[in-house]
Amino acid sequence: MIRIAAYRHGIREVLPDAIDPAELVDRLESCFARDESDAYRVLIVDDDSDQADQFTATLEAASMEVRVANGPEKLQEILTGYRPDVILMDLHLQGYNGIELSAALRQDPMLQEVPIIFQSVAKDLNSHMGAIRAGGDDFLAKPVAPAFLAATMESRARRYRQLSAMLQNDGLTGLMNHRSSEEFLQRAVAHEDRIQGDLVVVMVDLDHFKRVNDRYGHPVGDRVLVNFSRFLKGRMRKSDIVGRYGGEEFIIVLTETTLASAKPVIESLRVSFGAINHLVDGDVLNVTFSAGLAAYPEFTTAGALIQAADKALYEAKRSGRNCCRIQRSESSDKAEPTAEGARSPS
Ligand code: GH3
Ligand code: MG
Ligand code: MG
Repeated sequence: MIRIAAYRHGIREVLPDAIDPAELVDRLESCFARDESDAYRVLIVDDDSDQADQFTATLEAASMEVRVANGPEKLQEILTGYRPDVILMDLHLQGYNGIELSAALRQDPMLQEVPIIFQSVAKDLNSHMGAIRAGGDDFLAKPVAPAFLAATMESRARRYRQLSAMLQNDGLTGLMNHRSSEEFLQRAVAHEDRIQGDLVVVMVDLDHFKRVNDRYGHPVGDRVLVNFSRFLKGRMRKSDIVGRYGGEEFIIVLTETTLASAKPVIESLRVSFGAINHLVDGDVLNVTFSAGLAAYPEFTTAGALIQAADKALYEAKRSGRNCCRIQRSESSDKAEPTAEGARSPS
């Protein structure tokens, strides 16, 4: 098998001959995307600080990021700001045991799928089984060879990352799906609330998309959706998000941005996307979109923002499509925002 032969020569990915250019770019990006900030995040739960230091040194040497909790209070504190890719849990902790603790951790929806690896000197089968039954993914009997520890943690973390990407992203476009976009928006609103910042939600819908499918077929429609996703993603900042909200409907969240800056950005996206000639069987196809904008703190919750942006989108469709509309709250003055301080799409 060619993939195995290639693997033996240190080749990470084998791509088919006839690969779609957009997919090729995606695969290449994913090869180069791992930088320092993407290091796998490990959480060690251990009350023996010498042991924890040893594990930390081993895992850090293998380029993983490590935090250590020596008890439940510290664990809680770490988990408010740290999302581990894998947890290394001591089975016997002072005053409580790792099995109870992981059962408690699993009740948090964010931690339901995170792999938990137990470690202990106990070699009897009963504690292995207890640990696995409690939702542990693996059991390491101490002493653990450093290279084996690093390999186990890394492969578990990698698998977890792959799995959560599959659950959070839309299969066709790779963008965040409906649910994770909403979760992101909720977190972003909470963040702006804390720092008294601004944020803009944009609902975007492709115009007359049904005609594209009817005229050129569903696969061409799919390709336009993928191209549109790449177009949006490539032009937003890293801190913004683009999600696929529905079939041909997308959501953009511009963090720390006001309507006055967001409007020209979206306008410019609209004009440049509309100008793209999609080539289909020698035919030139142009696709446009309509957009609706709403801002925080004018609207104070994720739900209200989405509803308001949706209403603006409906207005944009009603006004003839290929345009942007803004939904203001009843209490705001209705003046259109100026372009002052506008941010150009980068
Ligand atoms: P409007 O300008 O009012 O938005 O018109 P429209 O035709 O875009 O809107 P409508 O809601 O009538 O149709 C949406 C179309 O989008 C119909 C559906 O088949 C298509 N669509 C939704 N999801 C996908 C998809 O994943 N792939 C493809 N190819 N088409 C899709
Ligand atoms: Mg549409
Ligand atoms: Mg639609």
